[in-house]
Amino acid sequence: SDPIPMTPAEQPEDQDRALRPQSLDDFTGQAEARANLRVFIESARRRGEAMDHTLFYGPPGLGKTTLAQIVSRELGVNFRMTSGPVLAKAGDLAAILTNLDARDVLFIDEIHRLNPAVEEVLYPAMEDFELDLVIGEGPAARTVRIDLQPFTLVGATTRLGLLTTPLRDRFGIPTRLEFYTVDELVSIVERGARLMGAAPTPDGAREIARRARGTPRIAGRLLRRVVDFAVVEGDGTVTRELADRALTRLGVDDLGLDGADRRYLRLLAENYGGGPVGVETIAAALSEARDAIEEVIEPFLLQQGLIARTPRGRMLAHKAWTHLGLAPPRAPGQ
Ligand code: ADP
Repeated sequence: SDPIPMTPAEQPEDQDRALRPQSLDDFTGQAEARANLRVFIESARRRGEAMDHTLFYGPPGLGKTTLAQIVSRELGVNFRMTSGPVLAKAGDLAAILTNLDARDVLFIDEIHRLNPAVEEVLYPAMEDFELDLVIGEGPAARTVRIDLQPFTLVGATTRLGLLTTPLRDRFGIPTRLEFYTVDELVSIVERGARLMGAAPTPDGAREIARRARGTPRIAGRLLRRVVDFAVVEGDGTVTRELADRALTRLGVDDLGLDGADRRYLRLLAENYGGGPVGVETIAAALSEARDAIEEVIEPFLLQQGLIARTPRGRMLAHKAWTHLGLAPPRAPGQ
């Protein structure tokens, strides 16, 4: 295939889009989710019905949006996209719902951030494909019921716990996305490099994959930056040595942690003796939003066994002390 033109004007999101897998076969990793989706898509197609409502949840950059697009493509229906914060009024959602064709996919990103008044409209729409609209105000107000075409709602969230129970219960297909293994990320890096017209050595691709925080979006971003270094400071080849040098200069360490991750770990080590520390305290000390800490930073640190969550707060694990090159404090009584 043609190499993707890379111009300075191109935004990262455009480049993301260019690397996006287009079919379930093209999509690497998430084997269990993919196998199940294949069945649900095929069944909906054979029955000529809308696929059941689907919820993708997991940390950012793992492929929720990509999978939603693939589902619509494989169902052979239109893909409509919006997000929780964008739908300010009930009427905004009603306008979208009444414009859907039969069996279309409506994707709502950040669905945990829906306004409650909008969420109310969603319940009967999801359950019975009906819309109850209030027209007018005061004594003259009346409700009209509008029939909708059957559709598939695909919701995405980084925070399953923030979804209201009634909303959560209306998804027939809740699907958790996991961090990717290094081998899966190697395939993703190699595919991305091919699309960019770059040629990493096997070691070079693995070095990027190993340091991508288990996340395809990060793998794509690191690949583009490493290729920049290869073009300008090397002969264009992404070797392991070149990848290592470039990633270190980008502040990505040997475990794939970035500056924000290390600031978090160092705070716990140096200011709180390893914890436990409450998340609010951490957020205030780092001047970061609590959401960003819980959605972006902590999931990978937990998955890597660098921190633990306890009822009294976050604690640094032994591996984190070693990684920071610090000695853990002695446990009392030792
Ligand atoms: P999310 O919606 O979970 O934040 P996206 O679906 O936007 O994540 O994915 C981010 C980027 O990562 C996409 O643009 C795509 O290029 C890439 N990506 C995600 N999952 C995969 C995958 N399984 N294989 C290859 N690339 C992927």
